[in-house]
Amino acid sequence: MSRAICEPTVAKRTATVFIISAPSGSGKSTLVALLMSADPRLRFSISYTTRKPRGTEKNGEGYVFIGREEFIARRDNGEFLEWAEVFGNFYGTHREVLDQAAAEGKDLLLDIDVQGARKLKESIPEAVTIFILPPSRDILEQRLRSRSEDSEEVIRRRLREAETEIRNYQQYDYVLVNSQLDESAAILAGIVKAERVRRQRMEEKIRPILESFESQAG
Ligand code: ADP
Ligand code: 5GP
Repeated sequence: MSRAICEPTVAKRTATVFIISAPSGSGKSTLVALLMSADPRLRFSISYTTRKPRGTEKNGEGYVFIGREEFIARRDNGEFLEWAEVFGNFYGTHREVLDQAAAEGKDLLLDIDVQGARKLKESIPEAVTIFILPPSRDILEQRLRSRSEDSEEVIRRRLREAETEIRNYQQYDYVLVNSQLDESAAILAGIVKAERVRRQRMEEKIRPILESFESQAG
């Protein structure tokens, strides 16, 4: 008998995938940063993008910044699990992010737009999708202005896009209205914790418990 057949099969751990989307200005980046610092079991999916770095953004931290030609070559090479054009720039999730998270024993958190979330949910139906929205249009406008990041024209465009994006809320498993920041952060952390103990994700933990009873039987 060959050695390979004798060895017990070790189930490959798969990362639980959490996908977060929101209209720009809803508070998604703020909430994702709070979640990432509160939950060391999460790995953030660093996307590839053709957009230029903003402010203090560094290559390889939030994004890998590449040119359009390189993006198209990587896309045509099948390197992305999903990709989309958002506000005139390309964004893509690299296929390796899932394996990297699984190898580290972590779950994966993706911050991607509604198109990307839809595509990824088709290929990973067990992915958990969360949509964050502002309490109202006026509050979204206030938040976009308070961030002091965008021109008047960009703010107008983001507000128009927000309506279209919000109409996609039905494709998500969870909808979180970001009113009070502390409360929203607690709810988000709660969703992640609850999803981890879903029965379907507990099989590996239940098996040794059952075995401990079986070995004492009689
Ligand atoms: P997004 O990543 O969705 O574009 P940001 O996280 O940049 O949004 O948040 C937009 C602005 O709103 C920021 O100035 C942020 O500090 C603020 N903000 C986020 N959540 C809240 C909240 N619950 N209450 C008040 N202000 C908030
Ligand atoms: P920003 O340029 O403001 O960081 O992001 C713009 C939009 O692109 C956000 O809605 C963000 O969620 C989305 N985004 C970032 N990375 C990806 C990605 O890899 N795929 C898709 N589909 N959207 C992404």
